[in-house]
Amino acid sequence: MIYTIQQLAAWSNAELRGIGTLEIERLVYDSRKTIIPEKTVFVAIKSSSNNGHDYIYELYQKGVRCFIVESDQSIDYGYYSEAGFVVCDNSNDCLQKIAAEIRQSFNIPFIAITGSNGKTIVKEWLNKVLESNHKTGRSPRSYNSQIGVPLSIWMLAKDIDYAIVEAGISQPGEMERIAHCIKPTHGVLTNLGQAHQENFQSLQQKLDEKLLLFQSAHTIFYHGDNELVNASVTKQYAHKKLLSCGYKSHNSLQLLVVKKEESGSTLELLWQQTKFSITVPFHDEISFDNVLLVILCALDLGMTVEQLRRELLLLAPMAMRLEQKEGINNCLLIDDGYSADLTSLELALDSLNQMGSKRGLSKTLILSDIVQSGKTTHEWYQSVVKLLEEKGVSKLIGIGPQLHSVMKGENAFESTDAFLREFDGNSFQSEAILIKGARQFTFEQISAVLELQRHKTVMEINLNALAHNVKYFRSKLLPETKLLAMVKAFSYGTGSFEIANLLAHQKVDYLGVAFADEGIELRKAGITLPIIVMNPELNSFPLMLDYELEPEVYSFEVLDAYLKAVQRQGYSRVPIHIKVDTGMNRLGFLPDELSRLLEVLKQSSDLYVSSVFTHLAGSDEAVHDKFTSQQLSRFNAACSQLNNGLGYSFIRHALNSAGIERFVDQQMDMVRLGIGMYGVSALADENLQQVTTLRSYVSQLKTVKAGETVGYSRKGKYAKDMLIGVIPIGYADGFNRQLSNGVGHVIINGRKASVVGNVCMDMCMVDVSNIPVKEGDEVEVFGSHLTISALAKTLKTIPYEILTSISRRVKRVYVME
Ligand SMILES: *Cc1c(COP(=O)(O)O)cnc(C)c1O
Repeated sequence: MIYTIQQLAAWSNAELRGIGTLEIERLVYDSRKTIIPEKTVFVAIKSSSNNGHDYIYELYQKGVRCFIVESDQSIDYGYYSEAGFVVCDNSNDCLQKIAAEIRQSFNIPFIAITGSNGKTIVKEWLNKVLESNHKTGRSPRSYNSQIGVPLSIWMLAKDIDYAIVEAGISQPGEMERIAHCIKPTHGVLTNLGQAHQENFQSLQQKLDEKLLLFQSAHTIFYHGDNELVNASVTKQYAHKKLLSCGYKSHNSLQLLVVKKEESGSTLELLWQQTKFSITVPFHDEISFDNVLLVILCALDLGMTVEQLRRELLLLAPMAMRLEQKEGINNCLLIDDGYSADLTSLELALDSLNQMGSKRGLSKTLILSDIVQSGKTTHEWYQSVVKLLEEKGVSKLIGIGPQLHSVMKGENAFESTDAFLREFDGNSFQSEAILIKGARQFTFEQISAVLELQRHKTVMEINLNALAHNVKYFRSKLLPETKLLAMVKAFSYGTGSFEIANLLAHQKVDYLGVAFADEGIELRKAGITLPIIVMNPELNSFPLMLDYELEPEVYSFEVLDAYLKAVQRQGYSRVPIHIKVDTGMNRLGFLPDELSRLLEVLKQSSDLYVSSVFTHLAGSDEAVHDKFTSQQLSRFNAACSQLNNGLGYSFIRHALNSAGIERFVDQQMDMVRLGIGMYGVSALADENLQQVTTLRSYVSQLKTVKAGETVGYSRKGKYAKDMLIGVIPIGYADGFNRQLSNGVGHVIINGRKASVVGNVCMDMCMVDVSNIPVKEGDEVEVFGSHLTISALAKTLKTIPYEILTSISRRVKRVYVME
């Protein structure tokens, strides 16, 4: 759909400045995305970490002409003579008003889905089922926020029969606003759980807030077995059509029995006095909960049991995320397990740009046929071609009969098998490759051949969780407080470039590394943020200057050597960071050395003190609080002395992660965030998200008779017959040998499996006698079931050591939603 900027201003009751006739097709709010300037409106949004208004000049230079901006921002409208502006009080509100207006132009069922867990899955499944004989539109991925919902509505095609929109909230007050955009006719409430509970006083409060979404709906679908939900829905919405599902007999759709078989589970159901059964390809209760809602909703919308039987059997667990892996020949693979359609293709291409561009790789897409109702092959292929042009993708490999027929040429293949038959690894060199195929094309076979050595023990790093944690810590700080993110020691074992790149996107102010070579590696990968080297070696100074790495200066020896290097290379006014030792007794100037330090610093203008800092020895433990206060007061005194002596001010910083959690009023001008952003809290704060998961798999199962022994030194000797699983992870991977002989365990299929015998260099054995298990099953070494903190406790160490001990041969896999 094409709108004019004048229309947008009118819909949102906002002021229009500049040219009103400009046309708009696309809406963008993230200035980092590749922006196609033509017919794009940029929505300038202010958040705690970023202000979209700062990018208007740059975007105008790139050709963007339409903007939604806030009235309290100083913008030189005269300068932007070719542009049109919607000037409003709040850009997000404005976006929501526009969405509400667009929503009104549809006269079709609008199904809104909310709940704590399962929203996206229910949305995708319901879409899959309805799509079999209707044209549907839905929110892409999990676009369910205050911004995501209006964007989803903006993106809906005009000619759909059903719209399915997901809505999520994290704070009281938000739902009312989203509800106004969606105005649903049908409401689906998925499972209610603890997610996003932090801002709500009780589950009841969160539930009441969620139910606000359904004010305009005439029909509501929900889980009737949950008493809280049942009571609230029936009380608040007694006049609506209420349809519930669950095991209890009062439900509209009752689940009578579940029969689990190898290939799936057969659900015996009762609906309107009729019994029937449907088989679904899952075995777990959570999937049953989700699929019941889908069945209930589809039945109410008029689908037959026959149709449902056919469609539900095809459902698959949903891969919602993009996986980034190292490929052969310096390629980078981005594996998108999400269904293949044009909207999600566009989003995945943005990620391809984000992940691939910094490394200077050329861009390639491997795409399957898009099985999309309503468009001819030729039409959707044209859209793909246009999209690839806009996003700078230079190579397309098409797989499937339709692409084969329209593309012809050497990059088109009839089927995945045909591609694999002719596969030549050498034809892929230094490319960022997005792999995106509809499920039936089994593109996992393609990622398998393109992936660099497939070690099956991997450390998975969830970049969304990392970003969440950074934002969470930032939310504790004053807006003007700067943030230094510690990425020393391979970012606490999680990676170098990938993490630094994410932190650059999160707009941290500084990165901190331990040694110069870590900083050089980041510079070579294209990281331009200021970087402080905490432990600079004297002979690294010439290189540090070349790469603009800033040293921590902790002694006269360092100061003297650095000053000489600066003068020799002809630099002037180079920043340094002074470390003061206030009680840690590690590196740093002692308070009584400061007057001499001032003398040296005042003699030369080649250096300037950019920051002064100290490090706390016991910020994580209450027993040391008195000592911590003492350190902080010594530090304040040192800062005053330096400030007076130098005659200028500098950034002062003292807090590490635990310091931020426990002494936030001492944040000064900057804080240094480390372990916290990797998901470990000094206060066991549950708002932090798990970033790292160490996974392996069961490579072999073996029955061991009572009295036999397992492994080296024959330590594993047991009185009973036992089934053991061999896991390809050993002490050379960082699986500590202290975990031998029952001290440690891993998690397999949700259960504990204790270590049997001694841990070997590359392998270990675990007891799986009481666990349903088969070869190839996944093993969690640490992650959400067994936390790093718990493992650290077992090993009588700290989480830092667990993370940094995972050896570099364990492949890091980055995931983002
Ligand atoms: C490592 C380090 C930090 C970060 O500490 P965390 O406890 O991981 O937050 C901060 N400052 C200095 C000087 C460090 O060496």
